[in-house]
Amino acid sequence: MDDLQTRLIDRFGKESVWIGEALAGRGSSYLEAAPLKARALLRPGSTEEVAEMLRMCNAAAQPVVPQGGLTNLVYSTHTTEADIALTLERMNRVEEIDRLGGTMTVQSGATLQKVQQAAEAAGLFFPLDLPARESAVIGGLIGTNAGGLRVVRYGMMREMVLGLEAVLANGTVLNSMNKMLKKNAGYDLRQLFIGSEGTLGVVTQAVLRLWPKQPAAATALLAVDSFAQVAELLVLSKGRLSGQLTSFEVLWNGFYRLTTTPPAPSIPPLDPGSDYYVLVECLGLEQGEEQARMNAMLQQAREMSLFTEAVVAQSASQRAALWRVREDTKQMEAQYWPTFHFDISLPIAAMEGYLGQIRAELVGAFGDVKIWIFGHLADGNLHIGLYGSSIRDEDHPRVERIVYQPLAALSGSVSAEHGIGLRKKPYLGLSRTPQEIAVMRQLKAALDPRGILNPGKIFDPVETSEH
Ligand SMILES: Cc1cc2nc3c(=O)[nH]c(=O)nc-3n(C[C@H](O)[C@H](O)[C@H](O)COP(=O)(O)OP(=O)(O)OC[C@H]3O[C@@H](n4cnc5c(N)ncnc54)[C@H](O)[C@@H]3O)c2cc1C
Repeated sequence: MDDLQTRLIDRFGKESVWIGEALAGRGSSYLEAAPLKARALLRPGSTEEVAEMLRMCNAAAQPVVPQGGLTNLVYSTHTTEADIALTLERMNRVEEIDRLGGTMTVQSGATLQKVQQAAEAAGLFFPLDLPARESAVIGGLIGTNAGGLRVVRYGMMREMVLGLEAVLANGTVLNSMNKMLKKNAGYDLRQLFIGSEGTLGVVTQAVLRLWPKQPAAATALLAVDSFAQVAELLVLSKGRLSGQLTSFEVLWNGFYRLTTTPPAPSIPPLDPGSDYYVLVECLGLEQGEEQARMNAMLQQAREMSLFTEAVVAQSASQRAALWRVREDTKQMEAQYWPTFHFDISLPIAAMEGYLGQIRAELVGAFGDVKIWIFGHLADGNLHIGLYGSSIRDEDHPRVERIVYQPLAALSGSVSAEHGIGLRKKPYLGLSRTPQEIAVMRQLKAALDPRGILNPGKIFDPVETSEH
């Protein structure tokens, strides 16, 4: 045991500082299996403990990697044997729900599912949703500025966090637990930490915005022949579902076939012969009203010949079955290993041309490649899964360049919602200007002068006079 490990254990005890064998059963992300490679895993039970742990690590210039539910897909929680990992899994309480103000105060280790259920039990609604809801926690969702399935109506995590508490690298506790929708008293410091991937501070608690409960859902899956029709359907849905449109997910044919053909458990709700499948959902108060709204939109879409076939969920279990077709992304890895994942955004009008270009380049470079496309189309966000039997490890940068390079000219982003982590670091400059990256580095140096928090994620470590 080294000196810092000994001092941490002496101060906080073996329950709060895990080393050696205790790390055997933990991975360091969804993409990296156990054991966790780290000098220690810190498990503080309070903000004060987080502050003191960071103070001790900062004094020793010890790198610390904040970890949440480990569901990120960009190696943003990756650790080496030289790092210390820090998890808030013991700090997972829902502290307060203010029904009148529409807020929830929650510790950062609470899972998304726990937060959704607590809001529902109070007659309210926390709308952020994504397939990793059982594991992803508030700290990680804030760290990545998560998006997910309802962004078109409610926005991303950034729009749902009214306040937060963060501990800086030197142990300073920054209390920014605002509950107000309006607060223009100086810089909005909370936003610095949202989407900063654990590089600026450890977020220990947050005030989340809650919305009125939306118990009614109208959900339909449509088969569509062309991308132009998909785009028209989006315009129509935004208009006809009058602000109630909550999800507009598009599945390209290859993805639809993958998740509805054995060994995938789902059966195809619609004939698999169409090029696109659109899952559209509106949420509201009265089932009859939402269904009528959806039916009116579908009626008009039919008159405009925007789809060939549709199925409308008639029960909660049918709704769940439609969503399973969209959410069963694990079929990619289960059937084709290894699968590359890309999470990008670009203007909807440019998508068809972009996808045609990268498909041609990938096939030209690697021959027979499988490409699965699906995503939150209303947000301009596509997820692309890719498998090629001839793609070797050393080809990864070439594949990435084919996918990412064209996004620069289209004002797109190499990351729509997953963040940069280690995986997309070489491509940050395609989506951000040198001046933007320079300011990010200045902020990092100002808040974490010794560079101990998640060093090397997003960009290379910042050299400071303290090193
Ligand atoms: C099947 C699947 C589906 C997914 N679908 C979506 C989707 O639709 N939309 C979407 O946005 N994402 C999606 N993701 C990605 C992932 O779920 C999100 O990025 C999520 O926000 C990560 O949360 P986490 O708790 O797992 O964080 P982690 O993966 O543990 O960490 C993510 C980042 O946050 C930082 N962090 C963690 N805790 C803290 C803290 N307390 N303070 C400061 N920084 C912290 C970490 O250092 C890291 O940089 C999906 C992932 C999977 C596996």
